[in-house]
This record gives sequence, structure tokens and C-alpha cells, in this order.
Amino acid sequence: MSYYSLLIRNCGQLLTLAGVPASGPLTGSALRDWQVLADAYVACADDRIVAVGPMAELDTARVGPDTQIVDAGGRVVMPGLVECHTHLVFGGNRAHEFQRKLQGESYLDILASGGGILSTVRATRAASDAELLANALHHLEGFRHYGVTTVEAKSGYGLDAETELRLVRVAQEAGRQQPAQVVPTFLGAHVPGPEYKGRPADYLQMLANDVLPHLNPAEVPFVDIFCEEGAFSVRESRQFLEQARALGFQLKIHAEQLHDLGGAAMAAELGAVSADHCDYLSQDDAARIAANGRTVVVLLPLVPLFLRQEVYAPGRRLIEAGVPVAISTDFNPGSCPSKNLWLALSVACLKMGLTPKEALAAATLNAAWALNLQAETGSLEPGKRADLLVLNVADYEEIPYWLGENPVQQVVISGKVQ
Ligand SMILES: [Zn+2]
Repeated sequence: MSYYSLLIRNCGQLLTLAGVPASGPLTGSALRDWQVLADAYVACADDRIVAVGPMAELDTARVGPDTQIVDAGGRVVMPGLVECHTHLVFGGNRAHEFQRKLQGESYLDILASGGGILSTVRATRAASDAELLANALHHLEGFRHYGVTTVEAKSGYGLDAETELRLVRVAQEAGRQQPAQVVPTFLGAHVPGPEYKGRPADYLQMLANDVLPHLNPAEVPFVDIFCEEGAFSVRESRQFLEQARALGFQLKIHAEQLHDLGGAAMAAELGAVSADHCDYLSQDDAARIAANGRTVVVLLPLVPLFLRQEVYAPGRRLIEAGVPVAISTDFNPGSCPSKNLWLALSVACLKMGLTPKEALAAATLNAAWALNLQAETGSLEPGKRADLLVLNVADYEEIPYWLGENPVQQVVISGKVQ
């Protein structure tokens, strides 16, 4: 019997995210009925969790001279946050558009005038690989500071074959150069490239012919598309996602962000792992997504906040309809320049009607499901990667309550205290 390499002891509340029957992402009451252990420990061997339980049941024979011990001092310990929707790699920023937004211009107005996504595309195309990598590493450091241990990273600010492939490579390299796990997603279908203005179908055909065949689904598991007015229609999105699926990619969609077009239910029908935004999702489409049981609706509450939009995804109604929900920031230079996933949890409670326990499950285990990483991370169970956080609070109810604060005291990634 070997010694533990790391022991987190005296956890006042250990948020295991385990203990509910789950053959799929957590839905309905399971989203809040998972187990909290009082006065508990987590033990790790190398990069894995090997034991979890009450302090009274700790096997002290496995605590050896080389076991690193972290005393949580009665505080909350929980899984590392899983950030399942970011646009990590981009050049420049859009601080200059903030003022225009405050004066009343809408997201789609700014996009139509050549700003928005297209201004970031110009800055991204002009940036070197080294500059893009340095920016991505800076943002990943910020995410780790907030306790995010897994980060999805979308391409989508290149909008030509060469730059889109460059963005995917930069995301992969950023993943290798720091400890958080980075999961690349191909979002070449963000909006049609400027060279394809008014020809969205031709642009998608170019991506399908010239880019997707150069990506390996084992390394870049997801293909995503922005289904919205000014981007791609439901019909175009369906055709492109079907092409991606035939090449072995898993599917994601940005849908129902600004209008109810039906993209989320369409993607669920194709077996997408997630349908993201859904601020304008209809109750009928919610029922269709719930019936599929696998597609996670990713709530992005900081986006309507930053866009000064009144409509937020109907989180409470989605949970009651049996839809699995996750929470993410949607970190990007236009509609959410924030990496504070804790703030997103608070806004999900305040504006979407989630309870603190539901919000915590949505940013950990269900977010892992949205990346198909549920076997690897998102809960504190033996066999999973040892990604966990010691927080500065004694009760999980305090987490969304201290609005805008970062409750993280210590971050452990793959069994290593950061
Ligand atoms: Zn997004």
C-alpha cells in the first residue's frame, strides 16, 4: 500500500458533487441534491483523487513522511471550476466600443458598422503567434487565479483558413505551457469572414473543405457555430454541423442569444454536447432539449449584463423542465471581458433564478459534461483528476453571496498545489 502524495484535511464542508444517480448531466433535483460532507478529507496519489470521506475514516497508515498536507481549517473545499465556453485567443481589445455601447448602440449595430467581432479579427490577423500566445497565457493565469482548472478555448477571430488554424495551434500550445487543461474548439463559423460578406454558405463550404480536414478530432474535439441573425441561419448551421459530425467532431452551438431561431433544439437533435446562450429559448424548445437528456444548455449570465440586455436565459424554468444547465463566462473581448466565473454564478442566482447549490453544480460537473470530460473532472470522486479548491469561506452559501469576490485560497491542479 502506497502513501498519499497529497492530503487536504479538515474540510469544514467538502462539496463532492457526488452521491446522486447520474447516467447523464445533472437535471432537476439532482442538480441540488448532491452530497456535502462535513469535517472531511480528500486524498490524492500523483494526479488522481484516491479517497474522499469523513475525517474520522481517514486511513492514517497511508499518510507518510512525504505526504504533503494542506489543512483547510474548517473551510469549504470543492472541485476546480470548469470553464466550458471561452474565446481565449484573440488580439487587441474592444474597450473603445464600451463607450458606444453605453450611448445606446446595440451589439448588432456595432457589428454591422464593421466593429464588434470584425475589429477583433483585424487585430488578431495582425498579431504574431508569440503575441497571441502571450495574451492567452496571461488570460489562463487569470483563470487559474479564480480557481478554474479546465478551460475550453474557441477559435473564431481569424475567419480565414490560415488564421483559424493558427488560433487552434496557439490554444494547444498555451495548454502545454501551464497547468490548467485547455480544450480547443473550432469556431471558424463565428461570422462569415470579411472576404465572404453576404455569402455565408460559401464561407461555411470553405471551412468544411479547407479547414476541418486539417483538424484532428482527437486533439480538437468540438466544432461550434454561431446561429444568429448576422451570422448563420438554422439551415446553414445544421448542414455545417452535420458535415463536422461526419468527420468525427462533437458539436456545440451558440444559439438563441438575441433571437429565437430554433438553433439550440436543432443542435440537440444532432446530439450536440452543448447549446450555449439560450437567452431567448422558447419553452417548447426547452422541452425538446430536455427530452434528449444529453445536451447541456450553457448559461452565460455575464453576457446580457455586459450587453445591457434585459432578457436573461430562463434558468429556473429550464431546470424545472428537466434541462441540464452549466454556467460559464463566455470570456471574450466583445460581450464578456471577464474571467470571473464566481461573478457569473452570482448573476445566475440573481437574474436566472438558480440556487447556490445549483449554480455550483452548473460550473463544475455539468460544465464537465458540456466538454465530455465528466469522467475526468467536475466532482471529487476516486479516479478523477485531482483538481480542487480550498476556499476562504466556511459555508457554500457564502460563495455567490460575496458578490464579485474571488473566494479562492488555494488551487490544486492534477494533484499539485499551485
Ligand atoms: Zn461565445
